[in-house]
Amino acid sequence: MARVPLKHSAPERALRAALTSAGFRFRLHLPDLPGRPDIANKRRKVAIFVDGCFWHGCPRHFRLPKTRTSFWEEKIRRNRLNRARHRTGYPPEWAVVEIFECEVRERPGEVFAEVIAAFARSPV
Ligand SMILES: [Zn+2]
Repeated sequence: MARVPLKHSAPERALRAALTSAGFRFRLHLPDLPGRPDIANKRRKVAIFVDGCFWHGCPRHFRLPKTRTSFWEEKIRRNRLNRARHRTGYPPEWAVVEIFECEVRERPGEVFAEVIAAFARSPV
């Protein structure tokens, strides 16, 4: 039987667990927010994007595939462009946090603190 694919990456799930245990509530992939952030809370005006190192061209981990090179180059370039455009789609009072999956894996404490601070920033 085929393995059921994980809908969300391990770093994303770890981040959600950290927020939940800190007592924060959030929604996933809200379609009415720019870029459909992975984690968001509209009342607190916070949007979190957890980017895959491959799909979003992490400067440390992205390796261009050896086949269909120009297709992948263009694909990743567009992903990065879209991400930049989404960021500017939020009003200035929003906290928009973009992190690569590797950052969650390598320094989870720092990343969790940053994201929790973004949630806690406005007393709602
Ligand atoms: Zn990376």
